[in-house]
Amino acid sequence: MVKAVVGANWGDEGKGKITDMLGKESDIIVRFQGGANAGHTIVNDYGKFALHTLPSGVFYGHTTSVIGNGVALDVPKLFGEIKSIVDRGVPMPKILVSERAQMVMSYHKNFDAYEEERLGGKSFGSTKSGIAPFYSDKYSKIGFQVSELFDEEMLREKVVRVAEQKNVLLEHLYHKPLIDPDELYKELMSYKEMVEPYVCDVSLYLYNAIKEGKNILLEGQLGSLKDPDHGIYPMVTSSSTLAAYGAIGAGIPPYEIKQVITVCKAYSSAVGAGAFVSEIFGDEADELRNRGGDGGEYGATTGRPRRVGWFDCVASKYGCRMQGTTDVAFTVLDVLGYLDEIPVCVGYEINGEITKDFPVTHLLEKAKPVFQKLPGWQTDIRGIRKYEDLPENCRNYIEFIEREIGYPITMISNGPGRDDIIYRSR
Ligand code: GDP
Repeated sequence: MVKAVVGANWGDEGKGKITDMLGKESDIIVRFQGGANAGHTIVNDYGKFALHTLPSGVFYGHTTSVIGNGVALDVPKLFGEIKSIVDRGVPMPKILVSERAQMVMSYHKNFDAYEEERLGGKSFGSTKSGIAPFYSDKYSKIGFQVSELFDEEMLREKVVRVAEQKNVLLEHLYHKPLIDPDELYKELMSYKEMVEPYVCDVSLYLYNAIKEGKNILLEGQLGSLKDPDHGIYPMVTSSSTLAAYGAIGAGIPPYEIKQVITVCKAYSSAVGAGAFVSEIFGDEADELRNRGGDGGEYGATTGRPRRVGWFDCVASKYGCRMQGTTDVAFTVLDVLGYLDEIPVCVGYEINGEITKDFPVTHLLEKAKPVFQKLPGWQTDIRGIRKYEDLPENCRNYIEFIEREIGYPITMISNGPGRDDIIYRSR
């Protein structure tokens, strides 16, 4: 059985924790898109970890962690991450890397930084992990696939071709040092050495695993609103964040994805630029930011403060719909225990009209939030394990949001740990 864990919003919804938790019953955990630009924070018996490339299943001895073909594979980052967890006492994880995954090269990161520099104040707020230049090259068919590392003759020729093309931009647009094809070849060979023991025909491996009835978890990065097609273009990421893409980025049939668990946080947060309708500012925002997540809403990759806001039913309803949600995991609810009233964004006012349907970007920029205030519960709900034991106002908050978004909330996370979860039947 294949399940996907994906985000409904801008990312940082708490997918890492949910994946780690569901990892207990999974044989295989697959990352199918994205790169090292976003992080997952996981708290378990080994400590607190920020993972960027490794799937969140690496902490279990029984799971195999797979880097699918859809991922932007940053080889040195991946191996640095493996080393960092092993150094902290986690047993060496079983890792497979798709032979069809493409690699983020050092020049992708440089181009990412150069472009942000060139755009100045109009930049995208990129994490400079090379993701946009990487995916551009993939679709321009000048990227390097892992399998190509094993055809050295072809590779020798290709590095010259790629350097030639990149150097035009480096010289004339960015005025930066040029790429030396020999250095590029050496970089690729060093990646080969690192990645060789893990290379695998992942789609075939997963095909057999599905036939054997194995439990497979697809782990998404970021959320629906960062999808290049269905998100807040152009303030999006460069690979699809939707569960549907799990089929492509892992190489499995679409009809095998039986459960789509969409993670929604009990309030909103976003990193980078772009419209964020329910955003709040000032002291109200600082308080939520500092109490948020586990130790505050600060980026796992960059440490920069995240933008925060109240729960957005319009964006989340849309985010859940685009994922094809079967279950919602509602996270970080414990954080809201300090409020006596909790505003929830229930509609957008655009050009004098109120809508509950998420619009395209130029209209989104004009949208003003319509807030409804719900009573808070003003207690610490951490440690509660049964839905009935939650305070009434807390249950009302959950049920109100469930009605607004129209998808069943079957899991409620009330703390960062693996066991901080309340299951709820439909
Ligand atoms: P991801 O990218 O979607 O995995 O999200 P993050 O790694 O940014 O997770 C958000 C933060 O919230 C992390 O620091 C988690 O440890 C923390 N977290 C996850 N679930 C909960 C929860 O239910 N309550 C609290 N307080 N923190 C949580």
